[in-house]
Amino acid sequence: MIRFSQLERILKGKTVFTFEDRGITSLSIDSRKATATPGTLFFAIAGERHNAHRFIHELYQRGIRQFVVEQKVDSVEQLPEANIIQVSSSIQALQRLVAFHRSQFSIPVVGITGSNGKTIIKEWLFQMLSKKLNVVKNPGSYNSQVGVPLSVWQIQSHHQIGIFEAGISRPDEMQNLAQVIQPTIGIFSTIGSAHDEGFSDREQKIQEKLRLFDEAKVVIYCKDHAAIDRAVAAHELKKLFTWGYKEGADVSIQRKASGFNVTYNKHTFSLTLPFSDPASVENCFHCVALLLWLKYDPIYIQECITSLRTVHMRLELKEGINHCQLIDDTYNNDLAGLEISLQFLLHQHQRTRKRIILSDILESGLEKDALIKQIAELVQRNKVDNFTGVGKVLGEFKHLFSANASFYESTEDFLSNFNTDQLQDEVILVKGARAFQFEKIVSRLQRKVHGTVMEINLGALVNNLNFFRSRLRPSTRIMVMVKAFAYGSGSNEIANILQYHKVDYLGVAYADEGVDLRKNHITLPIMVMNPSEESFNSILTYNLEPEIYSFKIFKALAAFLQGKVCHIHIKLDTGMHRLGFEERDLGELTNLLSSNPNIKVASIFSHLAGADELQHDAFSTSQADKFRRWADVISEALGYKPFYHILNTPGILRLPHLQMDMVRLGIGLYGVDPTTEGFHELKPVATLKTIISQVRNIPKGESIGYGRRGVAEQDMTLATIAVGYADGFSRAFSRGVGHVLINGKRAPVIGNVCMDMSMVDITGIDANEGDEVILFGAQLPIQEVAASIKTIPYEILTNTSERVKRVFVAESI
Ligand SMILES: *Cc1c(COP(=O)(O)O)cnc(C)c1O
Repeated sequence: MIRFSQLERILKGKTVFTFEDRGITSLSIDSRKATATPGTLFFAIAGERHNAHRFIHELYQRGIRQFVVEQKVDSVEQLPEANIIQVSSSIQALQRLVAFHRSQFSIPVVGITGSNGKTIIKEWLFQMLSKKLNVVKNPGSYNSQVGVPLSVWQIQSHHQIGIFEAGISRPDEMQNLAQVIQPTIGIFSTIGSAHDEGFSDREQKIQEKLRLFDEAKVVIYCKDHAAIDRAVAAHELKKLFTWGYKEGADVSIQRKASGFNVTYNKHTFSLTLPFSDPASVENCFHCVALLLWLKYDPIYIQECITSLRTVHMRLELKEGINHCQLIDDTYNNDLAGLEISLQFLLHQHQRTRKRIILSDILESGLEKDALIKQIAELVQRNKVDNFTGVGKVLGEFKHLFSANASFYESTEDFLSNFNTDQLQDEVILVKGARAFQFEKIVSRLQRKVHGTVMEINLGALVNNLNFFRSRLRPSTRIMVMVKAFAYGSGSNEIANILQYHKVDYLGVAYADEGVDLRKNHITLPIMVMNPSEESFNSILTYNLEPEIYSFKIFKALAAFLQGKVCHIHIKLDTGMHRLGFEERDLGELTNLLSSNPNIKVASIFSHLAGADELQHDAFSTSQADKFRRWADVISEALGYKPFYHILNTPGILRLPHLQMDMVRLGIGLYGVDPTTEGFHELKPVATLKTIISQVRNIPKGESIGYGRRGVAEQDMTLATIAVGYADGFSRAFSRGVGHVLINGKRAPVIGNVCMDMSMVDITGIDANEGDEVILFGAQLPIQEVAASIKTIPYEILTNTSERVKRVFVAESI
């Protein structure tokens, strides 16, 4: 084990203070996730927006005792038991430490890079090799400058091979990762356009990625990619091992009617693959090449391929029975993935009690007792209130778990004997190895959904938030508008993740929405845009902050407060002509504010009427000018300066020079670009989908649906889908106006949309009852769907009925 006293040498840093020389057992870089053990080493990173040095004292209070810092720490005397070392860069120090750790192991390590397929290749190799070897790999797609070190840190003495993927977004990053991974075998997947922006040209990108393999004993790649082949030839690598369909590869592939012929070392064998899409085939042959290089025989390789499973990197947050929430993570179960899922559980604040239902972990490579000890420790560290273990091994070591634990021999045993009434108001993580078929447990514990669901991709949402952050100054605050059920996406879950990602404010339309957020443990400041007199009591009780836009509402509030303190937001009407004070009101307004000093102005704001269009830019500028002038009058009278803000999504995108102290982000967070300028970094967050309830054949000439408005012009295959206008699928889509997506193909709506169902023409589409139907999402852009009925994405999103269940998806493994 590496000890603190060694760090000065390994990290090239300077010890600030040593309380006692402890061993380093775990590494952390995220103050929100850091869990306290004496051996935890926290790396404080001073980012542009987020400076972790500010949290050192808080982390110390939570029990963390060892720190790597890149800035001076204030009041060290308040950290009497801490070990602190200062370095020039914390990220570099992290990489140096893990490079040292890595160099202590002489196992083979596979490094994977390229633009596409890295995670799939890694997961498949893991599936193939872990039948015979103890394998260590990155959890999920932890492949960044910090993700890779945290992954490689997991190598322990019982591991027999490592598989690590590395991703880079800028030149010069790869050499750091090469030192951390120290691959002995390289796999170069494919080169695509991801992250092209950071590189001068594609050639440079390939050369940079190849640096991962400078010291590798062999590099595996597909010789058919001419650009990669050229770059590899120029890079002077030690040894190449290639596969391909063209002449000259070491492993030569031929496509056959029933599969593939593979020729290697003058010996030919056949392989059948359980999939046919080109990307999967390519990913699979990278794995085949590696297995051949490692001298596995063709029969074993075929066996592995036959049992390959789709890689599910997602966990789903669903509504459960008895007011519970379920985290469905039923596809994978290994230790590293368990930690990620537990952290996701820990940060669901919508319910206070937390439970995990966990199966035995298969193929961990650890001795049983060591494995269960680690699980028990993880469960305790992540504050799980109730543990339910399923499987013989967990049962055998029940004594390692605390009092609130129960055990079942098998999934069947659980289903027959677990009393679901004991579940009330909890968040429940259901995580099981594939063989345990935990989907049966999820099905038992989930609120039944009718066919239509809205899937919310939390990864895309965070991507969008970060994109907006990157366009703003680090000091500009962000208020996220979560009105209208967070634009249809589900307020509580969205607010929870926004709170985790530290936005500054939330905005809602009505006090009730704010009260609901507070009841779900949201502590961020909340602005209420339409406060009514009846809601003042809730506003005060739940610490909400009303928007004040008229004298009437101001005076009513002042009368209600009777001297009690309340924070408000003043709305100015600079040209939208919806709500707000005008220039002529300023005198009376400042008088009122002066005579009610208990009413504190948190912010002053206005709203642009045409931020999305170039033609209105002069008008937007004049609105901003007026706004600043008027707001300054108010600030002057107050004697302090509240936050100023005027930008909504299109404003942030197009008029960033007007960002002032804060911006109000709405639809952009959900991945919709309301401008016509094409901000492709935004990823759609919501997918509305349903299923086919029935398929039938309609002879030419028959009519379809109410009013006999649909007519089969030809013999037609018709699908009835489980969505109607009561779900928010507008009746305006009737009669060919709207389309849906089924198995990748567009199907027009036939006849009139009904209340709970609709009919679509699927002639020529291969589709069956139960198949998925996409109403909008990444493949069927909501902008297009909205335009077809002459409305805007805002209306489509917010019209989706609350009876449609929301399912939240995040990355797991
Ligand atoms: C809804 C709303 C926003 C957010 O607008 P988007 O265009 O969705 O970003 C901003 N400000 C106010 C006052 C709003 O009502």
